[in-house]
Amino acid sequence: MKLNNRIEEMRSEIIQATKSLIRIKSVEEKAKPNMPFGEGVAKALEEALKLSKNIGFNVKNLDGYVGYAEYGGGDDYIAVLGHLDVVPAGNGWTYSPYGGEVHGGKLYGRGAKDDKGPLIAALYGLKVIKDLNLPISKRIRIIFGTNEETNTKDIPYYLDRERPPTAGFTPDAYYPAVYAEKGIITFDIVKNIKENQSTGTKILNIKGGQRANVVPDYCEVLLQTQDANSLIKIVKAYSLKTRYEIEAMKENGNILVKSYGISAPGSLVVPGQNAIMQLFTFLDTLDLENKEMKEYISFLNQYIGMETKGESFGIYCKDETGELSFNVGTIDMNNNCIRITLNIRYPVTFELEHIMESFHHRIEGSCIGIENFKHKKPLYFPKDSSLVETLMKVYKEQTGIEAEPLSIGGGTYAKAMPNIIAFGPTFPGKTIVAHKPDEYIEIEDLILNAKIYAHAIYELAK
Ligand SMILES: [Zn+2]
Repeated sequence: MKLNNRIEEMRSEIIQATKSLIRIKSVEEKAKPNMPFGEGVAKALEEALKLSKNIGFNVKNLDGYVGYAEYGGGDDYIAVLGHLDVVPAGNGWTYSPYGGEVHGGKLYGRGAKDDKGPLIAALYGLKVIKDLNLPISKRIRIIFGTNEETNTKDIPYYLDRERPPTAGFTPDAYYPAVYAEKGIITFDIVKNIKENQSTGTKILNIKGGQRANVVPDYCEVLLQTQDANSLIKIVKAYSLKTRYEIEAMKENGNILVKSYGISAPGSLVVPGQNAIMQLFTFLDTLDLENKEMKEYISFLNQYIGMETKGESFGIYCKDETGELSFNVGTIDMNNNCIRITLNIRYPVTFELEHIMESFHHRIEGSCIGIENFKHKKPLYFPKDSSLVETLMKVYKEQTGIEAEPLSIGGGTYAKAMPNIIAFGPTFPGKTIVAHKPDEYIEIEDLILNAKIYAHAIYELAK
């Protein structure tokens, strides 16, 4: 309780420090000497280190890539890993995105929740441990990352120069503790279709989706046809029958068919409605003259269709951390080449090789190429590991909430640094505001975070 009283006494200081960071626009920009991610990011790092120094910590700046505040002695150290860079503000803000204004108990601004507020909460959590002179057996670092939102070039730089922590957490996701994060595979499947000089119905262009990890809410296809009016009627009838939101209109002598779905995170915690695959179910009903195109469309419908777990593709798998998710994120057709970006997230006990083997087995003989392959390994700490148990105990004590540790489909900053798991700052049931207009952190949540992090740091370091 002593810790919490001291946090309460520092309430206005914590708010003030968070404001000072929000007021620096730390979006990645062109590199400058000693500013690998641009001027704004460098300024935010300097400000965070200045704040840390002013409240009594040793600080280090690793050439503008990453910095840390440190307290205590001993060989091993535990760490809190957060980040000072932010995504661009975007449109639709009621309050200034870099103003740090408080309205109705909420502190507004880009980075308020992701991840400046939580970093300050952890920094002041550490200050309380120092102020009360609590006995600790390990060094403690608050690590200020600066490149989480774009390419995560900060942490590899750190790990080339510093030993990793023996334990710790990142305040950059959800409560309670996240003990498992699925493996993430992103790649393009590419298929070249030979051109044919057909005069009948023919696909001229397809375009849809914006990002691999988001269920696309829009896709369109441009069709050449001899009979525009009947094609429009066919689309209308199909839309009525399936209740898919698909419409058609004339465009420069061709027909443009538009498909509207429902956007959702690619991790498919909440299922969306995939606008691309919805459109493909329609294209499968057309009498296309190009046999190769027709076959490819049938292939995609037979093995993907409206499924979101890779069942028919033969890669479905499941364990206690959840099911595999399969998202068709984007499509682009150019010069008769169809490129589709897939985002697959697999439960932690499965192997990448095993999943890709099944994948290759399915596309065998189909002349589909794989390009731009990216993989992020799963992250897993047993529920009864001391790191998970310690954080869960602190969470329960401070909030009074009985909960189970989380398994999530998304990848957090924890994947960048060994021995770290995600812990907060968003409480269950709260609106997700990160990356959205009017991002905020509720003042009470900021303070509660500081209390939770103070106890968590102490429990890990004592
Ligand atoms: Zn973040």
